[in-house]
Amino acid sequence: MSRQLGIYAICGIIMLLISCGKSKQKAPVEEETVDPLAEKIARKKAEEARREEERRIAMDIQKRLARFAPTKIDYDDKIVWDDLRPVLRKLIEAAQYMDEIFMVQVDPRNIEWRKKLSADPAMKNQLRLFDIMFGPWDRLDENKPFVFGVQKPPGANFYPTDMSKDEFQRYIKAFPEEEESFTSYFTVIRRKSDKTLEAVPYSDVYEMYLTPAAKLLKEAAALSNDRNLKKYLNARADAFKSNEYRESDMAWMDLGKSDIEIVIGPYEVYEDALMGLKAAFEAFVCIRDPEDSKKLARIVKYIPELEKNLPMPRELNKPRTGSESPISVAVLLFSAGDTKAGVQTLAFNLPNDEVVREKKGSKKVMLRNVAHAKFDQILIPIAKKMMIEEQMKNVTFEAFMNHTLMHETAHGIGPGMITLEDGTETEVSKALQDLYPTIEEAKADVLGLWSTNYLINKKVYPESFRHEVFSTFLGGFFRSVRFGAHEAHGQANAIQFNYLMAKKAVELTEEGVYKINYEEVPVAIEELARDLLLIEAKGDYEGAKKFIKQYGELPKQLTEKLASLTDIPVDIVPEYTILEKMKSW
Ligand code: ZN
Repeated sequence: MSRQLGIYAICGIIMLLISCGKSKQKAPVEEETVDPLAEKIARKKAEEARREEERRIAMDIQKRLARFAPTKIDYDDKIVWDDLRPVLRKLIEAAQYMDEIFMVQVDPRNIEWRKKLSADPAMKNQLRLFDIMFGPWDRLDENKPFVFGVQKPPGANFYPTDMSKDEFQRYIKAFPEEEESFTSYFTVIRRKSDKTLEAVPYSDVYEMYLTPAAKLLKEAAALSNDRNLKKYLNARADAFKSNEYRESDMAWMDLGKSDIEIVIGPYEVYEDALMGLKAAFEAFVCIRDPEDSKKLARIVKYIPELEKNLPMPRELNKPRTGSESPISVAVLLFSAGDTKAGVQTLAFNLPNDEVVREKKGSKKVMLRNVAHAKFDQILIPIAKKMMIEEQMKNVTFEAFMNHTLMHETAHGIGPGMITLEDGTETEVSKALQDLYPTIEEAKADVLGLWSTNYLINKKVYPESFRHEVFSTFLGGFFRSVRFGAHEAHGQANAIQFNYLMAKKAVELTEEGVYKINYEEVPVAIEELARDLLLIEAKGDYEGAKKFIKQYGELPKQLTEKLASLTDIPVDIVPEYTILEKMKSW
């Protein structure tokens, strides 16, 4: 995101330079006379440049599309019972409106542009990428345009394109009584005819989509026997009209045991790269996964025992109290809007409203079938190129899913509130400041591995699972660091990899691929878990810094090899099979 902002800043400077140039030209009167020939030549050159750019884009559109593997996102028919079907149909129809709203939220011109592309068979590939990206900008390439050659406004369609951050801030300073409506997640800022600004609620701006969507939600509520689901759907439908979302966010937290898991409405603010304020519409329609929910319940039962036996000095190990955010595993049937644009999400943690989080906590939902699709399409092909062949048979989806669940569980155990050397009571995150995300992500990963190993020792999992868990961990690592180790997750991965290499638990073979020495792994992960837990328990900022410096960078040999894997897709494009199946319901 910061890189994007940087680019927008540069765009801003360029725009500033152009306008300065204009005003300079206007000052001396005699310079206003234009040379028609020079103007014609300039126009011709500009047209040629535009055509050249179009040719270039046309040539690499195939390459851009190849980054995405079209993938069927399917589900087991057994879990979509007959009496859920009428409800699901309404929910999916309501969700489809989120696609339409988000398209307009990105840019009002999207509707016209899409029509243009659909009408021209030669633009088939452009249309395909347009639909993936929800507009003519490549979300995986710093939002560069791949068709139409227009720059993306940083504030998308949430603000007037000629409004600067500065103008927004000056406005709310001058009219503090309007600050709340201006900074609301659920308003857009428009310019009035007198050139001043106004905040317009989503319920007005998107009424033509929200009214039918609300109607469908109410119909779904009427068809459902699930009390909590009914409550959420009715509350959310009311929110579409009232623009007040808090009550329905509260109701969503109570959906924990319903068969249907649905999220619909305005949530994340990433699309607003100008102010980071305005929420984009999206939807997830899911079914809770009964098998994985059982597995999770089993893990949860062992948490107190894991906590008591963490690899760290007893005097520093203070088990946490209080409830953590619940995790649930679901099968995704359909998604729409913001979440579907560009890279597909494996899990979401909502709601974002701090008031709701304070009162009810938040809920993490993991999407099993999406994870499976990414495992097949991306993780396996990468691991095949990076690991020795005989260990590939141990890279399994069950182990991948287990590790993801264990990682999330491990976030909730280990040091929380700590006492610093000088006696101050504080939270780990405050003591480790900017280094906290990296240390905490590495801790969650390695403690997840350690926990699984512990449960295998306790015979909760079969012995055969041990090699699967270690191999899949390494395979997953290559997928995670494919695009470098710049942010917290990537750096956390680099730490684990380098540590395991240093302890000879992983080694590079003469053939240039990696191999696990299974015997060495348990000791290495226990030591790494101990080192990280100690840094956290002591709130040792300097220690964290030293540790990251020592282990946080990927070996060059590895990054070069990963960079050469250009034929493996970056992500999937979901094709939801329920849309076909629904036709015969
Ligand atoms: Zn994490």
